[in-house]
Amino acid sequence: MKWVLPKTYENPTYPLKKVADMESDTVTNYQVAIIGAGPAGLTAALDLANRGISSVVFSKENTVSIGSRALCFSKKSLEVINRIAPKAVEKMLAKGVTWNLGKVFYQEDEVYKFNLLPEDGHKIPAFINLQQYYFEEYLVDEIANQPLIDLRWQSAAHFVSQDEDKVTLEIETELGNYNIEAEYLLACGGVRSKTRETMNIPFEGELFEENFLIADVTMENDFPTERWFWFDPPFNKGYSALLHKEPDGVYRIDLQLGIDGVDKDKELDPERIKGRLRRMLGDDCKFELEWTSIYNFRCMRIKNMVHDRVIFAGDSAHQVSPFGARGANGSIQDIDNLAWKLAYVLQGKAPKSLLDSYQEERSPAADENIYHSSNATDFISPKSEISTLFRNQLLSLAKDHVFAQKMVNSGRLSHAFKYLNSTLTSSEKEEWNCKLQNGYPLNDVALKHNGETSYLLDALSDDFNLVLYGDVLVDVSKITAHFPVNVISISEGNTNKGLVDSNGYFKKRYDATPGSWYLIRPDHYIANRGRTLDYEAINMGICKATQATSAIEKSNITDANPAYAKDDMYKALIEAHEGLSKEESDALNANLVLLLMDTVQGKEKWNTILNTANNTTLSNKEITV
Ligand SMILES: Cc1cc2nc3c(=O)[nH]c(=O)nc-3n(C[C@H](O)[C@H](O)[C@H](O)COP(=O)(O)OP(=O)(O)OC[C@H]3O[C@@H](n4cnc5c(N)ncnc54)[C@H](O)[C@@H]3O)c2cc1C
Repeated sequence: MKWVLPKTYENPTYPLKKVADMESDTVTNYQVAIIGAGPAGLTAALDLANRGISSVVFSKENTVSIGSRALCFSKKSLEVINRIAPKAVEKMLAKGVTWNLGKVFYQEDEVYKFNLLPEDGHKIPAFINLQQYYFEEYLVDEIANQPLIDLRWQSAAHFVSQDEDKVTLEIETELGNYNIEAEYLLACGGVRSKTRETMNIPFEGELFEENFLIADVTMENDFPTERWFWFDPPFNKGYSALLHKEPDGVYRIDLQLGIDGVDKDKELDPERIKGRLRRMLGDDCKFELEWTSIYNFRCMRIKNMVHDRVIFAGDSAHQVSPFGARGANGSIQDIDNLAWKLAYVLQGKAPKSLLDSYQEERSPAADENIYHSSNATDFISPKSEISTLFRNQLLSLAKDHVFAQKMVNSGRLSHAFKYLNSTLTSSEKEEWNCKLQNGYPLNDVALKHNGETSYLLDALSDDFNLVLYGDVLVDVSKITAHFPVNVISISEGNTNKGLVDSNGYFKKRYDATPGSWYLIRPDHYIANRGRTLDYEAINMGICKATQATSAIEKSNITDANPAYAKDDMYKALIEAHEGLSKEESDALNANLVLLLMDTVQGKEKWNTILNTANNTTLSNKEITV
């Protein structure tokens, strides 16, 4: 294949260090060994170091990620990096292209726009676009200043064995091989993880045969900093296209090529790619190719991410298609969930069983990522005539109807997973009138500190936090955790002392009344909350979230704000048609309409629906049945 390599970025080269382990007769025992220095491995090392845990990280490469891989980094990922390496996040925000707005086009027309972060008062934007190599390089820079991390480049690490106390690895380098031991191994070696292979752990799922061409180009056209997605555009008839702005004047263009008859070598010919791009960008647009590649998607996962002392995270545990930007972002969320638990276990603050809750909480997160990423792929490249028909009709309706816009799926973008039905989450006991629930990630708010803007997330420590609203005095001696719990008081907006909710954001977003408290886990998720100070509920919340109690029943919290609830219904509709002949499909549709007619109250409403379906009342913006 002919590859075009990036011109705007030169990969740094990191040397192979000579280390004492190479010449030692004894095998050194490390706290944590990490295989892989991608987003998962680097984030893990930094998060653990922040918590006082040392690690040795092995990368078989001599540099960071090559070419265009992850591009869209989510708010939650950046909030995690802000917590563990604030200087790195400053660089990411300064270099990255911030965007909140997306536009969806169908054929020649703009169908609708969406804004991912309409709320004020957040430190971190909804998304930035930043090439994966910059993301990794900034983390490597931070690691250089971190004495608890020993990052070894050009060192391929191979799992040898594990027993009750340790994991043994063999490290292969050009200066010779050596063995090490570690109390825990984090297998962050990516999709082709050899650890998974050596341990005979099946990696199962679905392969999508559709081919997608990525062309990163530098060009003079100044498209706005928005995500643009086209279904069936005139320049790529019958297929889709995606455009994103990146730093360094680079644009990522993603063109669907189809399945049959795609000759990858031919498609990667730079002249052929330029022809495709001229059809999209116009003959007058001056551009240069920066990086090109063709890829297919796989949605795969291992069943269990925790195998005694070997813990899988990131792509080595699960792989998704890029639609929705859930790969690297999901990997970072794995680490966010795992690092504090591993640190607490190693420090004797929590029982070893806490590590099982990583599987309990992140396994459904992997399923959710795979679910959304597979759904998006099915929507973007429908496999049957009937699914194409439904998809296209939905896009036509979306021009005028909000309900249809919500169902169009050009990639459900990565957001923080909610740990609602987890053994670590306390059940809700009171009524709250806000979007947040126990098991939700924190929602950042801008506050004032000594008159200056300050953010809730920045005020939190890496341990448990108790956030109190209003003037409440806390007797910390009544909080019976084996570790310090950071107490943060937020005053109502009529004082200049401490943290002040000057805009009333906290009051509104947390439905806070004087005396309300929120117990926050070290990964900044809500463990428990209450309306009045209740030491028993706080202590139970901490015990439950660290498994220091036998009360390990799952909470049963129903998400009051499920995102994309209609996706299941759409999926079921398409599946109901699978294997049917045209006549059978038509009959199914007729039956459906008649059954749905039965649920509509009144002839007037029915006529409105009928007219809308018949395209006669396009001013009707939304129908509620
Ligand atoms: C075209 C494309 C676009 C994408 N866009 C996005 C996006 O916009 N947003 C997003 O979130 N994700 C995106 N992704 C996914 C993202 O790139 C991955 O999910 C992410 O890199 C996973 O991180 P990781 O650390 O788990 O694995 P990796 O990044 O694969 O890192 C694993 C590292 O381990 C090393 N390694 C492997 N075996 C060994 C060994 N035995 N010893 C030592 N080192 C080893 C590897 O060389 C590698 O450097 C995209 C992917 C592609 C291909």
